[in-house]
Amino acid sequence: MLSGGPSYTRGVSRGPLLTPDVVVVGAGPVGLAIAWRCAQRGLRVVVRDPAPGSGASHVAAGMLAPVAEAYFGERELTGLLTESAARWPEFAAELEAATGVDIGYRTEGTLMVGLTADDLAEARRLWAYQQELGLPVTPLRPSQLREREPALAPRVRGGALAATDHQVDPRRLVPALRLAAERAGAVLVPEPVRNLAGVLAGVTVVAAGCGAAALTGLPVRPVKGQVLRLRAPDGGPPGFRHVIRGYADGEQVYLVPRQHGEVVVGATVEERSDVDVSAGAVLRLLRAAIELLPELAEYDLVETVAGLRPGTPDNAPILGPLPDRPNVLAATGHHRHGIVLTPVTADLITDLATGGATDDPLLAPFRPDRFHTGTGGRGVAGSEQSRKDEAWS
Ligand SMILES: Cc1cc2nc3c(=O)[nH]c(=O)nc-3n(C[C@H](O)[C@H](O)[C@H](O)COP(=O)(O)OP(=O)(O)OC[C@H]3O[C@@H](n4cnc5c(N)ncnc54)[C@H](O)[C@@H]3O)c2cc1C
Repeated sequence: MLSGGPSYTRGVSRGPLLTPDVVVVGAGPVGLAIAWRCAQRGLRVVVRDPAPGSGASHVAAGMLAPVAEAYFGERELTGLLTESAARWPEFAAELEAATGVDIGYRTEGTLMVGLTADDLAEARRLWAYQQELGLPVTPLRPSQLREREPALAPRVRGGALAATDHQVDPRRLVPALRLAAERAGAVLVPEPVRNLAGVLAGVTVVAAGCGAAALTGLPVRPVKGQVLRLRAPDGGPPGFRHVIRGYADGEQVYLVPRQHGEVVVGATVEERSDVDVSAGAVLRLLRAAIELLPELAEYDLVETVAGLRPGTPDNAPILGPLPDRPNVLAATGHHRHGIVLTPVTADLITDLATGGATDDPLLAPFRPDRFHTGTGGRGVAGSEQSRKDEAWS
């Protein structure tokens, strides 16, 4: 039972008021997926969160983009993104089968485009790097681009297809994960954890997004992102099917079409911790979006919103036991990639929670002790800013 916290009761079949095997702190996509997997393995699981799904996932676009987001200097992260994206088809199918919820998983792929010659030159440098890594990036001529997406502006100079970069709708994903976790036996307690010392459990998993820093001292910092949501005026699906990521007169923007008519336009990347929406950001995002896809000017602007990505000094997640507390597992710092990384994070952390492969080579680059200051690690939060030209999600 949780000391000083709410009493924990679960289904009659397994008995009430037992100390949970696992307490998961945070009911975002990461925490809920871990809770689901742990409960599937027969563990008694409690999830603590006063506002499930209210973190970064509420704002996120839901791009599953290991290819388009393979950036210079992030080779190990790219490997993890690729591994997790490969698990997504099965993960989505299993989740939809377990819950009956359509999570908006779509596989049309991603078009990466450049509006001007300068935009295209910049984009091509990145595509060349991605191809060097062996990632599937297929350059397209303007005519081939418009065959795939006739709604693209005639000015768009060129592009490339990342056919394996897919998308899911995070606002459907999170409720589905919650339902799946609860059906598997996990219990959600709508209260925060203020101090890990007050949690009694075999294993505590800290999956609290930006909230992890206060609980653990790990170098997780908020990285603000502003996003718009548009809606096709006739209530039908948007007039394009691919995720479109582009450079438009030096401005980066992405456009994520949902089947039910929504288009997510994002996103700013700001080293700030407020969630205010600024007129300038709305202007820049809309201008870039409409330059790439003129018909968006006719869409309704239905939402402007900002969220906080859980960023880390090296832009990679923090996964595994805290250096001085082996029973506390970190599953945080997913920054721009928490949606795509949900399946692999859930599998790795569940393995750790059940005493399985602690030496999984996938985990090695992402362990919390890489930041341990006492042993010559790389230091703490804020020591490195995320590079503006790398961030899209
Ligand atoms: C603008 C924007 C666009 C994005 N686009 C993408 C994208 O296209 N693809 C992608 O993969 N990722 C994207 N992301 C990143 C993604 O949203 C995050 O990486 C992901 O949500 C992290 O998941 P999480 O469960 O760790 O944290 P969160 O989603 O932030 O959830 C954390 C949860 O923990 C709870 N919590 C916090 N503190 C406590 C506490 N003390 N006790 C109990 N509960 C607590 C919160 O209430 C919250 O419910 C985007 C993010 C933003 C902001």
